[in-house]
Amino acid sequence: MSNTQTLDKTYIANTYARFPVELVSGKGSLLKGADGKDYIDMGSGIAVNGFGAADDLWLKAVTDQLGKLPHSSNLYYTAPDAKLAEMLCQRTGMKRVFFGNSGAEANECAIKVARKYSAEKKGPNCYTIVTLKNSFHGRTLATLSATGQDHYHELYQPLVPGFEHIAPGDMDALKAIDAKTPVAGIMIECVQGEGGVVPLEAGFVHALADYAQAQDIPLVVDEVQTGNGRSGQLYAYMTFGIRPDIVSTAKGLGGGLPIGACLMGEKVQDVLTPGDHGSTFGGNPVACAGGVSILSRIDDALLEGVRQRSAYIFDQLTGAPGIEAVSGLGLMIGVKTVRPAREVVMKCIENGVLYLTAKDRVRLLPALNIPMDLLEKAVAVLKEACR
Ligand SMILES: *Cc1c(COP(=O)(O)O)cnc(C)c1O
Repeated sequence: MSNTQTLDKTYIANTYARFPVELVSGKGSLLKGADGKDYIDMGSGIAVNGFGAADDLWLKAVTDQLGKLPHSSNLYYTAPDAKLAEMLCQRTGMKRVFFGNSGAEANECAIKVARKYSAEKKGPNCYTIVTLKNSFHGRTLATLSATGQDHYHELYQPLVPGFEHIAPGDMDALKAIDAKTPVAGIMIECVQGEGGVVPLEAGFVHALADYAQAQDIPLVVDEVQTGNGRSGQLYAYMTFGIRPDIVSTAKGLGGGLPIGACLMGEKVQDVLTPGDHGSTFGGNPVACAGGVSILSRIDDALLEGVRQRSAYIFDQLTGAPGIEAVSGLGLMIGVKTVRPAREVVMKCIENGVLYLTAKDRVRLLPALNIPMDLLEKAVAVLKEACR
């Protein structure tokens, strides 16, 4: 064990089952280990490094801003967050953006906006947020309560009240909850990431969106993992052709620095007023300058490249020996393997490729622009490890 690993195991809170790899540097989709080995990165820091590690244009954008003004607080105007918010609204048709520092914070904001809108519209009893079983929305108490997986809940009771979880596809359960006490918001991931990379059925997504609109319930789409080009569209909801009222996003938006954003559509654009919400670091100029660099390059050509790489991976892995199923959308792919997923991932590490897991699946979240030769090598290593 390296010195770093010993220090980490002694002093860092024991919350992560880390893989036995210490990383020291990286460029694009290649990372260097402390052992001197090169690794092909098929996880992008969990869908964060959309253009790979230390991407040149991103690096220039953040270092320029770092030298000018790294932080100012939200008591003053700064250009990078205003610019990034304008770009997000122009690309989505949403009207306003609140910036935080993580996916959980983006969802916290989404939940507050949905609750305030509904309390003002339908009264103080209207606070229930409906989410899906097998979902993942974050680790804060409210987003943990929103998360529809019991094993995350067990030792943190009592959870934040006012969350109900329905099975994907079960419109009757939603209507039954709404009939008891009016629903204040519905929150979904179009592809359940931590839940095993499971896309929702298009028919269900449309039924939910239609119901939410008819009943005047804000529809929140959690695009923390699916967003910012990962799905093959700018946001995964665009693949389904729906118009959410609130979109939360984070991970890939920053290109490597912490950022979260809650995008508010026409229905809820005026819900938040001064004092309702805030964040000391939210809209940080350096993170937002990086976001501007990233978002400006998620264009049609890049998205076409994402879809092509996705098709290549599905084609290579579907039906391959030792692989039972391949699911996902764009460059967010889950592979159900005959061998335990963690064992497959460990084998790939030995052969110089870093994969992730999600539940019982191997999870692929490569950089959106991963060079084809590296992708081919990485996929070959995975196939070999699954045999
Ligand atoms: C990762 C993730 C979150 C939480 O994001 P953090 O930045 O870790 O707080 C929320 N929702 C989804 C769908 C995620 O994948």
